[in-house]
Amino acid sequence: MDRNLKIGIVGLGLIGGSIFKALSALKCDVCAVSRSNPTILKAKEYSQNVSKSLLHLKNCDVIFVCTPMNKTLEVLDKLDEILPPTAIVADACSLKTFLCQKKRPYKFIPTHPMAGTEFSGFDNSFEALFQGAKWVLTPFEDTDAADIKKVTEIIEVLGSKPIFSTPEEHDEAVALISHMPMLVAQALFKTAKHNSLALKLASSGFRDSTRLALSNEEMAKDMISLNSDNIQNSILKLYSSIGELLNGDYPSQIREIKIERSNMYVNGKNIL
Ligand code: NAP
Repeated sequence: MDRNLKIGIVGLGLIGGSIFKALSALKCDVCAVSRSNPTILKAKEYSQNVSKSLLHLKNCDVIFVCTPMNKTLEVLDKLDEILPPTAIVADACSLKTFLCQKKRPYKFIPTHPMAGTEFSGFDNSFEALFQGAKWVLTPFEDTDAADIKKVTEIIEVLGSKPIFSTPEEHDEAVALISHMPMLVAQALFKTAKHNSLALKLASSGFRDSTRLALSNEEMAKDMISLNSDNIQNSILKLYSSIGELLNGDYPSQIREIKIERSNMYVNGKNIL
C-alpha cells in the first residue's frame, strides 16, 4: 500500500470506526468525519484529525463512506460538491445496486466488507474486525485499474481478501447468505417465543440459529426495503428446498449437505 495516501472515513460507527482504528494503529495518514460530538471526542483519542464537516476530507486521496445505508446516497451527493475529480471514494454499504445508478464527478468504487457484529457505533468498533474477512468490490467497467489497486491494497492492509463482482450479482448473493437468513432467524424467534417451555429448554442450537435476529435494526430495515426482490426470490428458493428435502430421499440429501457443509472447514478453520 502507498504510505503517502491520505485516507478519509465518513461515519465512525462499527465499520468506519474499525477502519479508522486499524489504519491509525498502522500509522497511516487518516482523517475522519462523523456526526455526533461524543463520537468525535472519543475518536480524537486515536487521531486529532477528526471533524463534523465533510469539507475536512477535501484533500484526501481515498475516502471510505461508512454511514448507515439510508444516508449513503446523501453523503455521496454532498461529496460531489466537495471533492476534486482525482479523489477515489469507496463505500461500505451492504447493498450495491442502488448506489450505482449515478455517475459521480469523482472516482467511485463501491465496496462491501463481509465482516461485522450485531453491535453498532464507535464504542463497539475494533481494529481486528476485518482480519481474515472477504471484502467485495463492484467497480464500474471504466474505472482505472490503478485506482482499484489503491483500494484493494488498503483492504489487504486491513487483513481482508478482495473479491470482485457486479452490483446485481452481489445483491442476489447477499440476499441468500445474509438477508434471507436474518429474516428467517427473526421469524424463528417470533414463532418460538410464545411457548414458554420452548424458551426455557432452548440451548446452543436455538442460540446459534437465531443469532442474526440480533442484527443492527437500522441496517436490517434498510436491507429488507432495498433488497426486497432478491429476498423474496431467496425465500421462494428456501421453500422449494424444504419441499425437495421432505418429498424426496431425505437421508441421502442430508448426507450430501453434511459433506458439503463440512468441506467448508479446512484445517479446522471455517473458510466460509
Ligand atoms: P453504525 O455502527 O450504526 O455506524 C454508522 C455511523 O455513521 C454512526 O455511528 C454515526 O456516527 C455515523 N453517521 C450517521 N449519519 C451520518 C452522517 N450524516 N454523516 C456522518 N456520519 C454519520 O453502522 P455500521 O454497522 O458501521 O454500518 C455502516 C455501513 O456499513 C452501512 O452501510 C452498513 O450497511 C455497512 N456494513 C455493516 C456491517 C455490519 O455488520 N454492521 C457489515 C458490513 C457492512 P455518530 O456516532 O457520529 O453519530
